[in-house]
Amino acid sequence: MAEVNKTTGTQDRLMARARAIIPGGVSSPVRAFGSVGGTPVFVARAEGPRVFDVDGVDYVDLVCSWGPALLGHAHPQVVGAVQAAAARGLSFGAPTSAEVDLATLIRDRVPAAERVRFVSTGTEATMTAIRLARGATGRDLIIKFAGLYHGHSDALLAAAGSGLATAGLPGSAGVTAATAAETIVLPYNDVTALEGAFALQGERIAAVITEAVPANMGVVPPAAGFNEAIRRVTAQYGALMIFDEVMTGFRVGPAGWWGVEAGVENPTYTPDIFTFGKVVGGGMPLAALGGRADVMELLAPVGPVYQAGTLSGNPLATAAGMATLNLADDAVYAHVDRRSAELQSAVDEALTAAGVPHVVQNAGNLFSVFFRDEPVLDYDDARDQDTAAFARFFHSMLDQRVALPPSAFEAWFLSAAHDDGAMSRIIGALPAAARAAARALTT
Ligand SMILES: *Cc1c(COP(=O)(O)O)cnc(C)c1O
Repeated sequence: MAEVNKTTGTQDRLMARARAIIPGGVSSPVRAFGSVGGTPVFVARAEGPRVFDVDGVDYVDLVCSWGPALLGHAHPQVVGAVQAAAARGLSFGAPTSAEVDLATLIRDRVPAAERVRFVSTGTEATMTAIRLARGATGRDLIIKFAGLYHGHSDALLAAAGSGLATAGLPGSAGVTAATAAETIVLPYNDVTALEGAFALQGERIAAVITEAVPANMGVVPPAAGFNEAIRRVTAQYGALMIFDEVMTGFRVGPAGWWGVEAGVENPTYTPDIFTFGKVVGGGMPLAALGGRADVMELLAPVGPVYQAGTLSGNPLATAAGMATLNLADDAVYAHVDRRSAELQSAVDEALTAAGVPHVVQNAGNLFSVFFRDEPVLDYDDARDQDTAAFARFFHSMLDQRVALPPSAFEAWFLSAAHDDGAMSRIIGALPAAARAAARALTT
């Protein structure tokens, strides 16, 4: 077996250089391995289900760029589409036919996205959705749920999941008290709390924003009827429902979680605004918001809600998104679903055999593993797990050349490129990792 990263000096030397010039050495906090310890793997290239570090060591990848790599890394047709677009020019600052094609493709899959606007990141998509909801309603307050992550705009950092959950932070410094006061944070899966908040100040609430399936504190499926309840209560009070599908969109199915849960034909509920990112950009910086035509047309230049971006709808990103969605057919989703089910039962089996308390939670092909006995229904539950046991599990997997997300609060991502070889390396590594976790159990 090839040497693994912690025994080589290359990664450590790189990390020392990185830390001296980039805060924490990383461009996004969770990459720093803060909660699992050790030195992050510096990736030189990736192909299919694998990433290769700067020493040429390969790892089967369960991060998949935190979601976008639905087809696997460097899919030849996606790369080809980007290369062809690059040869025609990198950015124009003018409309392109490719944007119209991609927007149409999104609406074909998610008909409730009657109008679509492109941005570059999920953060921009949710930030814009919030501004749009405030513009549409003339109200200030928004509701978000604890442990859910919607990117790093000021209004949405309170009790946020993802890197803040990993680092155990309640929110961020630098957010003004006034901004924080406009965000009401409620426990997830709690209809009574939601109704209570609206009963108290429903006339001041512009929107409820929710992840279609919370997957940034680990995967916490919505209780049956919870998304419908959000729709019902927001409609009752004239507030908007913002459905954040940045993680789930085009990953859990052709029409995202909305397609899976509500159904596209006769949906049981329809949000006012959807946000997309990750898979929709196929690994390039592209995200989108879409929704009701009358709401979306409040955006400039038609309406009074301003939003803009020099690189929005970038031709390379649009080409990557287009190629990815065109390739993401039923066979791709069936493959990812099957691999996900296979891996979930293998993880469960290995942890059970080693006597490690755990619960595997899933929504469609999205899943994560919590190192605790009881099911996780909300953020308080998610935080009550044995993160030290996870850290040992993580490092044992990494030593066996399987790269998990370096956090106990993240979903594990599979792709259409995870073939038998990749799966057998992952599954073969699980028993030793489970035993390592067992030795680290704090109770
Ligand atoms: C990743 C994510 C975001 C933020 O997207 P970025 O592109 O990282 O800004 C927003 N919402 C959800 C649900 C996400 O998973």
